[in-house]
Amino acid sequence: MTKRISIAIDGPAAAGKSTIAKMVAKNLNYTYIDTGAMYRCVAYYALLKHVDVHDEQAVDKLLKDIDIQMYPDGTIQLNHEDVTSAIRENEVSMGASVVSQYAAVRAFLVDKQREMAQGGGVILDGRDIGTVVLKDAELKIYQIASIECRAMRRHQENMQRGIESDLNEIQKEIALRDQQDMNRRISPLRKADDAIEIDTSDMTLEEVVSKVMQLVEQRI
Ligand code: C5P
Repeated sequence: MTKRISIAIDGPAAAGKSTIAKMVAKNLNYTYIDTGAMYRCVAYYALLKHVDVHDEQAVDKLLKDIDIQMYPDGTIQLNHEDVTSAIRENEVSMGASVVSQYAAVRAFLVDKQREMAQGGGVILDGRDIGTVVLKDAELKIYQIASIECRAMRRHQENMQRGIESDLNEIQKEIALRDQQDMNRRISPLRKADDAIEIDTSDMTLEEVVSKVMQLVEQRI
């Protein structure tokens, strides 16, 4: 029987991590866990409850009331409400990048992520998977792409999803999120020492997936 490994994909905002992770998970029949969606749920809940995302204590207090369920078809429920599309709004993206700086929020979600990843056969994407959540993952990828390329991809994705979108705004927001995510005190975004960097700027989806599949094959 082939070994069921753990795969970590980290990288800056809108680098196409989730698209690749989903495709690789499907090929391998692995579970895909979108950890960014979990930070988005916390931000979404704060906005719903009219709590200022910059108020760390107030956000921390909300955690006990947050129940996140993620289903294999990609549906995400927050306290039994389907928030799959709602958490993709720009306001939620920016909020997620703020609440993800808080120690209590990170501890709460990292626990859940490790629990969900138990036993292998999983692929997680985020910012701290290879450096914190799954330090022992058999395969770590650091997926990057130029800011222009990432902004354009996110813009097109938003339009497909029917979300209002302005390319310049997206680029500014992505740059700000990266800056926050890379410079925060706890678990900043960085490439793990043993991660393999893939720059997808000039690669097709199929090329990236096949590169990742090659790396998986070497490890199972
Ligand atoms: O991946 P996504 O863009 O959906 O993530 C939203 C935000 O959640 C990121 O900008 C980052 O601040 C935070 N995040 C994180 N750690 C993760 C995943 C996401 O801090 N593992």
